[in-house]
Amino acid sequence: MANLRVPGPTPCPADVLAAVGGQMINHRGPEFKDLITRVHQRLQQVFETKNDILILTTSGTGAMEAALANTLSPGDAVLCVSIGEFGERFVQIAQAYGMEVVKVAFPYGQAADPEEVRKALRAHPQVKAVCVTHNETSTGVTNDLQAIARVVKEADKLLIVDAISSLGCIPLPVDAWGCDVVATASQKGFMVPPGLAFVSVSPRAWEAYKTAKSPRFYLDFAKHKSYYERGQTPWTPAISIFYGLDVSLRFMLQQGMENIFAHHARIGALTRRGARALGLSLLAADERYASNTVTAIRVPEGIDGQRLGALLRERFGVVVAGGQGPLAGKIIRIGHMGYVREEDIQETLEALGKALTLLGYRLPAKIPTS
Ligand SMILES: *Cc1c(COP(=O)(O)O)cnc(C)c1O
Repeated sequence: MANLRVPGPTPCPADVLAAVGGQMINHRGPEFKDLITRVHQRLQQVFETKNDILILTTSGTGAMEAALANTLSPGDAVLCVSIGEFGERFVQIAQAYGMEVVKVAFPYGQAADPEEVRKALRAHPQVKAVCVTHNETSTGVTNDLQAIARVVKEADKLLIVDAISSLGCIPLPVDAWGCDVVATASQKGFMVPPGLAFVSVSPRAWEAYKTAKSPRFYLDFAKHKSYYERGQTPWTPAISIFYGLDVSLRFMLQQGMENIFAHHARIGALTRRGARALGLSLLAADERYASNTVTAIRVPEGIDGQRLGALLRERFGVVVAGGQGPLAGKIIRIGHMGYVREEDIQETLEALGKALTLLGYRLPAKIPTS
C-alpha cells in the first residue's frame, strides 16, 4: 500500500474504515439522533467551544462558502488575509458573492503580519468581516491566529477562519481566541474520509446571520441548527462518514488533545530536520511559522518537480503533493497530519533522498544527524 503523504485526504485508522462500512440507518430515526448528538458534543471539545457546530455534508470549501454566505451580504466589505492558495480561495468566494474584497497579501512562504492587518482595518473602516487561513496548506505556513484574532476583535469585526488543515492537529481554542466562524473538514486532521465539514458559529455570527442577504439554501446555517435540535440534518447526510467520525473523535479524546498537538509538533520538526539534512530548503523559511501539518520543500535547481513526484510514487510508493498555482513544479508538499507515525516520515525522507539522487541531485557529503 502506498505511503499517502498528501495534505488531505489523509490515511484513516482501520477502525475508522471498518465503521464507515456499516449498514445504513434512518437519518430521521433515534439511532442517528444519538449519533449526531454525541458527535456534536465531542466536536465542541475538540474545537474548545460552547458555540453551535453545524455538521455539513460537503467538503471544506463548502464550509468556507457557507461561512461567508450566512454572515454577509452582496456589497459588504470583507478583508481577506492571504498567504497562499487557500487564502486566495476566500477572495474568490467573496467575489463570487458580490462582496467588496480588501486583500492583505503576503509573499508565499511567509506568515501574515498582524500589524498589517491592523493598518488595513484602520484604512478600511467599512470592513465587516476578516477571513483568515489558520494553516496555509499550499505553503506549509501557520499564521499566528491568536495575534490576528486579537487585532480583529479590537476592531470589533467578525472573524472567519479556515482551519481545515489545523483543527485537531495544532492548538486552536475557538472561544479563548474569539473566533466567530471556524470551518474544517473530515479528511485532514480528523482521520476520516472526505464528505463532512464542521463549522462553529458564535452568537455574534448568529447576529450577522439575521441581516445577511447572500443567497443560500443547501448550506443555510439556521436550517442546520433547527434540524440539529431535533437530532437531524436538513438533508440526507453522509451517514457513513458520521460512523467513521464517531470512532475517530472517541479515539482523539481518549488520546488527549494535548498529546495529539505534541505528536504533530514532533512529526513536523522531524520532517523539517530531515529535509534540511538532505540539503533542501523549506518554503517556510521562518521556523516559528513552519507548519506542523504540512511541509513544503523547494525542488532543487535543475530538477523537474513533476518528475520527482512521479518517481516517488512509481518507484517508492510514496505519494506527495506538488505545488499549486504559482508554485506548480517548484515545490513538493509532504502532509503529516492525523494518522501518521514517525516511520512514515522516515520512509518518505529516505525515498526523497533516493529519488533526488536518481534525478542527478547530489546529496550533501555529510548528512548531519540530530
Ligand atoms: C484542504 C483545504 C481546503 C479545501 O478543502 P476541500 O475539502 O478540498 O474543499 C481549504 N483550505 C485549506 C487550508 C485546506 O487545507
